[in-house]
Parts: sequence; structure tokens; C-alpha cells
Amino acid sequence: MSIPKTHPRYVSLNIRDKIVDGVKKGITSIDGLIAHGRGEAFDYLLGEKTTNVAKKSIDSAAALLLLAKNPIISINGNSAALVSKELVQLSKTIPAKLEVNIFHSSKKRELKIKNHLIKNGAKEVLLPQNNCKIKYLDSNRKYVNKNGIYKADVVFVPLEDGDRTEVLIKNKKKVIVVDLNPLSRSAKKATIAIVDNIVRAIPLLIETIKNLKRYNLSKKQLEVIVKHHDNKRRLKESIKEINRNLV
Ligand code: ATP
Ligand code: MG
Repeated sequence: MSIPKTHPRYVSLNIRDKIVDGVKKGITSIDGLIAHGRGEAFDYLLGEKTTNVAKKSIDSAAALLLLAKNPIISINGNSAALVSKELVQLSKTIPAKLEVNIFHSSKKRELKIKNHLIKNGAKEVLLPQNNCKIKYLDSNRKYVNKNGIYKADVVFVPLEDGDRTEVLIKNKKKVIVVDLNPLSRSAKKATIAIVDNIVRAIPLLIETIKNLKRYNLSKKQLEVIVKHHDNKRRLKESIKEINRNLV
């Protein structure tokens, strides 16, 4: 669909169009449309902008990703449809591996996501393996790659579901999520939750990592930035931001 640039909801409609296109291409599951709708509603309440709180969380996430020994970026159908190119760029900037991990089981869709990432510049994309599982999880997302999520110390999961965030933490991993809903279980359970739209947060995260690298910060300095992050407090601040917009 061609949306005129003058349309007051041009940006939002354009993003929606990308998700619909993802479904048509077989990258995004049809349920992904519902998840996107919930995201849109929260974005509306947040004023469709990156808040100052989100910027602080992005700083902490950037530092944590630079400190990681085995960072991994976990990709699902919605993030592949919206920010494939940016996630590939992020993986090169950190550097971190890319791994496909989807809720609604489909080998065909996993391969489509992988090929879509490769088309967008990825050199290597890991897929889940049938003989490799993380503990304490029943859904399809328990299957992981032994060289990827299985051995990762920090998992970056734009658009995570709450139970897997909890499980990854139980598996002794640090988890960074991007979630527009500050009330969601994923946001609450994450080590660092960035309450923002992935289409805005990922480019900003890439820039932040580049800046931290440019300043050549020591491990200690990066650790201070991470320590500064109090997830519960940041979520409260995000809710207050919504509240301010509402009144
Ligand atoms: P839980 O409470 O267990 O975390 P959930 O409500 O998050 O569950 P989903 O249906 O998987 O479960 O919701 C998807 C989440 O992704 C929603 O919280 C929604 O706000 C968020 N989301 C959707 N699109 C985007 C986007 N483009 N950027 C950031 N977050 C998004
Ligand atoms: Mg969630």
C-alpha cells in the first residue's frame, strides 16, 4: 500500500504496512499482528517518541552488550519484518551473533527469517537445534543453538514474551528486551527493559554503542553505567510518562 507522506499517521501506518508485508512474505506469524496492535496502543500513549527514560535504558543496554563475553541477538517474526537491516548492523557493531527464535513453531518460517536477514547483510544466522534446549521452558522457544543462545551470557531480545524472559534469567543469562508495554511481564522480568518502539530504539542503540566505543571506556566505567540501571524504577518512570500524557 502506498501511504501519502502528508498523512498525519504516515510513520505509524508505514510501520504497520511492514508488519503486514512480513505476514504476506511468511516471515511474521498472523499472531504477530495482534502483538503489534498492542504495541501501537502503548506507543500512542507514550507520544510515539523515545522518552528520556528509554534513552537512559538504551545507554545501560549498550554498556551491558559491550561487556558481554557471548552476546546474542534473538530474532522473531515481528523484529525481522520491522528492523532486519538494523539488527544486522547491531550485530556487526557489538559484535554479536544472530539467532532465530520464534514462538509459533515453523521450520519453514525460521528459514525464511534467516534468508531475510542474509538478504539484509547478515553473514551468519543461527537456527534452533532439536537436540539443544534451555531449561524450565515448555514452548517452542526452548529450542536454541548450542553456539548461540545456549552459551550466551547476554541475550538481546527485541519483543520477548514474559515467560521466556523469566526462564532465560533462571538459566543465568542477562536479558535486554525492547517492549512498548511497561506493564508486560517481559519488561518486569528483564535485566534491562527499553520501553520504546524497536524501530526507534535499535538505531539509537547502534549509535550509543558506537559512541561508547569511540570514548574507549574501561570495563569498570561500563560496569558503572550498567549498575546505574534500576529496572523497576525505570518502568515506573515510563508509566509516569504515560500518565503525564494522559492528563
Ligand atoms: P507478557 O506480559 O508475558 O510479557 P505480552 O503481553 O508482552 O506478554 P505479547 O502478545 O507477545 O505478550 O506482546 C508483545 C509485546 O510486544 C507487547 O507488550 C507489545 O507492547 C510489544 N510490541 C509490539 N510491537 C512492538 C514494537 N514495534 N516495539 C516494541 N514493542 C512492541
Ligand atoms: Mg511481553
